[in-house]
Amino acid sequence: MPLYEYEHCDGKCKICGGRFTLLRPVNAPELTHCPLCKAPVRRVLSSFNTPNFLKPLSVSDAKKAGFTVLKRLGKGEYERQ
Ligand SMILES: [Zn+2]
Repeated sequence: MPLYEYEHCDGKCKICGGRFTLLRPVNAPELTHCPLCKAPVRRVLSSFNTPNFLKPLSVSDAKKAGFTVLKRLGKGEYERQ
């Protein structure tokens, strides 16, 4: 099931925070209202198109974010950065 992201048309909601994601079947009818507060919502087309996501992550950025960065040395061999 694809994950869809929705945001409120008016941008604020005390229950869901104004933005939420839902797992929905592909053939489900388009969601037009927040299931929590019944306010009108619109689908956010792709959260993967944000500039932040396109920016290449450096090793230090990844470490700061709490990732363990591994460098691939060869088949099945990794070195901790
Ligand atoms: Zn809501």
